[in-house]
Amino acid sequence: MPDYPALNMKLKIRKLKIAAVLICAFVAAGSLTYVNNHDHVAVQAKTISDLEDEKAANEAEIKRLQEEMDSIDSDISQAEKDQELLQEKINLQNENIEIVNTKINDINNKIAEKEEKINQLEIDIENKQKDIDTGLEEFKSRLRAMYISGNDSLASALVGATDFYDMLSKIEIISQVSKHDNELVNSLMTQLEQFEEAQTQLDIEKTELNANLAEQEECKKELNAAIIELNNDYQESQDYIDRQQAEIASRQADIDQYEADNNAMDAEIAEINEIARQQAEAAAAAAATSQQSSNEENSNNSYSEDDSENDSSDDSAAGGGDNSGDGEIGGSSGTGSYSGALTWPVPGFYSISSGYGYRWGSLHAGIDIAGGGIHGASIVSAGSGTVTLVKSGCSHDYGKDSSCGCNGGYGNYVMVDHGNGISTLYAHCSAVYVSVGQSVSAGETIASVGSTGWSTGNHCHFEVRVNGSTVDPTGYLY
Ligand SMILES: [Zn+2]
Ligand SMILES: [Zn+2]
Repeated sequence: MPDYPALNMKLKIRKLKIAAVLICAFVAAGSLTYVNNHDHVAVQAKTISDLEDEKAANEAEIKRLQEEMDSIDSDISQAEKDQELLQEKINLQNENIEIVNTKINDINNKIAEKEEKINQLEIDIENKQKDIDTGLEEFKSRLRAMYISGNDSLASALVGATDFYDMLSKIEIISQVSKHDNELVNSLMTQLEQFEEAQTQLDIEKTELNANLAEQEECKKELNAAIIELNNDYQESQDYIDRQQAEIASRQADIDQYEADNNAMDAEIAEINEIARQQAEAAAAAAATSQQSSNEENSNNSYSEDDSENDSSDDSAAGGGDNSGDGEIGGSSGTGSYSGALTWPVPGFYSISSGYGYRWGSLHAGIDIAGGGIHGASIVSAGSGTVTLVKSGCSHDYGKDSSCGCNGGYGNYVMVDHGNGISTLYAHCSAVYVSVGQSVSAGETIASVGSTGWSTGNHCHFEVRVNGSTVDPTGYLY
């Protein structure tokens, strides 16, 4: 199976491309202070679009790799079936070898038996030979007696016989001479012939057994060769499976890499969206401040009276003195302190998903309170006071990648003046339950949590303003 240099190359190129996209995103974010919001959003939208395209390409690649893996998986399944078949054949051949081994043992036992009989027979023949030799000596004695009595030519021939067989060939003649001796010799010859026949028969049987043994050994050799071949086939199949599994692992590694890249891009997209959202909130905060400012001007008298009740030393210490005088920033002016603390605006949900502070050159003017199941949760007034601003009409109550444009990105929101220069703001509400001019007490439900305006998910954007300027709300909450 070939390696995939082209794919690896592609991965590398893709990583470089991602790096380039990220650099673009940072450059765009870094230049935010110098461009207007519209341009900034356009740059971001392009970046996100690039990332989405990249992700879609990755998903397609993952799908292709998974299809290849499925195909390889089915190859492996087939190879495993083949292996099962091979294993059955190997088992069968091993059984055959067992049978042949049993036969070989049997034959060897029989050969051993024959050899024992042959050995015994050889002993018998030897003994018979001795008997014959003894008989021959007696015969010779009688021949000597015959020799003494005349008939010398035949007797001398027999006495001078070189061996037993030579002598036997002459026994026919001797039998004519002596019937008594003839009977003796005939008996010996018969016995000897019988032994020889038995020996010949045993030799034949032994030869047959040896042939049989050779046959079985040949059979065993063939079976062993077959098993070796089957084992080779099995090993080849195993090697194939191992290679295919390596192919799967390699594809899985590629898929893991693509998925990690996509997760990284998801995080990048979320971050870009979050930054844009917070910038939109900041822009809306500025708009809300000027809006409230115009409202305040309409009902300036009552707040001025409240302010006059506070002592002048606190006024300067709060650092809000500059703003309180000109009335341009808006909100009631005062000491900037609040008797008791503000109460938590979303009871039951205490997680801050984004804190107060600067993000990429823009101020996130409040805190984002989020949490699972927070949608529809009650937003309560953080203190007693008067509702000074209500914005509603955004029906886009869901997480989004870009702003629906409602109310400068705040969606539905409420602003409450608590006196002493303190006011609070609650944004992205799914519903608002109060109206401008309405008095509310601390902890009274004024709205419910949603995801209207530019909001990537359900949360309450909560701001605290002192003499019109936002401050970190966490210092005012208990
Ligand atoms: Zn909207
Ligand atoms: Zn926020």
